[in-house]
Amino acid sequence: MRVKDKHASWLSAQAREVNFVWNFCNELSVRVFERERRFIGAYELQKFTDGATKEGLGLHSHTVQEVGQEYCRRRSQFHKVKLRWRVSGGARRSLGWVPFKTGALKYANGQVRFNGQTLSLWDSYGLSRYDLRAGNFSEDARGRWYLNVTVRVPVQLGPPAGQAEVGIDLGLKDFFATSDGQQVEAPQFYRDLEPKLAAAQRAGKKQRVRALHARIANRRKDFLHKYSTALVRKYRAIFVGNVNASSLAQTRAAKSVLDAGWSTFRTMLQYKCDSAGVWFKEVDEAYSTQDCHVCGSRSGPKGLAGLSVRRWQCLHCRAEHDRDINAAHNIRARGMAWLEEQIAAPLARRLA
Ligand SMILES: [Zn+2]
Repeated sequence: MRVKDKHASWLSAQAREVNFVWNFCNELSVRVFERERRFIGAYELQKFTDGATKEGLGLHSHTVQEVGQEYCRRRSQFHKVKLRWRVSGGARRSLGWVPFKTGALKYANGQVRFNGQTLSLWDSYGLSRYDLRAGNFSEDARGRWYLNVTVRVPVQLGPPAGQAEVGIDLGLKDFFATSDGQQVEAPQFYRDLEPKLAAAQRAGKKQRVRALHARIANRRKDFLHKYSTALVRKYRAIFVGNVNASSLAQTRAAKSVLDAGWSTFRTMLQYKCDSAGVWFKEVDEAYSTQDCHVCGSRSGPKGLAGLSVRRWQCLHCRAEHDRDINAAHNIRARGMAWLEEQIAAPLARRLA
């Protein structure tokens, strides 16, 4: 939910202190590693940061703890000793971020109480109906602040709307292809606004640059929501390849890979499937582009050169394939094997 702009300066001040705590954690982590060749954990970090709220920082103690925990999570996620500094000013300023834990945010009369402040917001969800949990305040590129908060929602599981199972191959040229033959071309959210963005950058129009970036992000989000919702409404089980964006991001196709938003798409599919009672599984997609889904022989185009081959014919059974749709069939088959186990195991236990 969008927080009203009159609170921006207070939230920015909070964010500067968050950056200070983050950078303190970063520095301490490096120092401990250099001295003792080990990673300082969140619990130990907390002992160092606990005093901070008493020593003049205006942060909620839960926020200080959460910064330390998030720092440790990110550090192990990226396998690094040191993370990037959070920068409070200048051109490379980090967008504001103020996390909090369950219990730090309270709802009252259309506003939220947080760390001694009463904040007004555009309550587009009807917050009074929910039990507020952990979350954060975050700033976008235009300097607008948002409240992101998890809530407890009773899930009413009915039967899923669809009857069939589908495999989905995520790609670059086609954003995705399904085992039912649906192909959706990848929109170039970034590239078609690139000339405008470059012009704005040359002219030094910072506000315009920020607005363009926000527009790109919104377009991408709309696109991903639209297609993830449609898929969840159509099927009773969805299987998707585990294609790894970060390994591909180091290749020539990097810009398109980052533009594609695969991981966001998978996350959306996952939570939408969860609340709709649809099965969802990420499956290993190794060789899914090389194996013929009709006869199973590994006769498809191989290696980097093979990436440009869109259509091929199986040498063994002579079936003709679209590269992505064939891959989607293989992903579906792997997903079906998993699904049969899920359904068979409890059944076997009951029969035993
Ligand atoms: Zn074949």
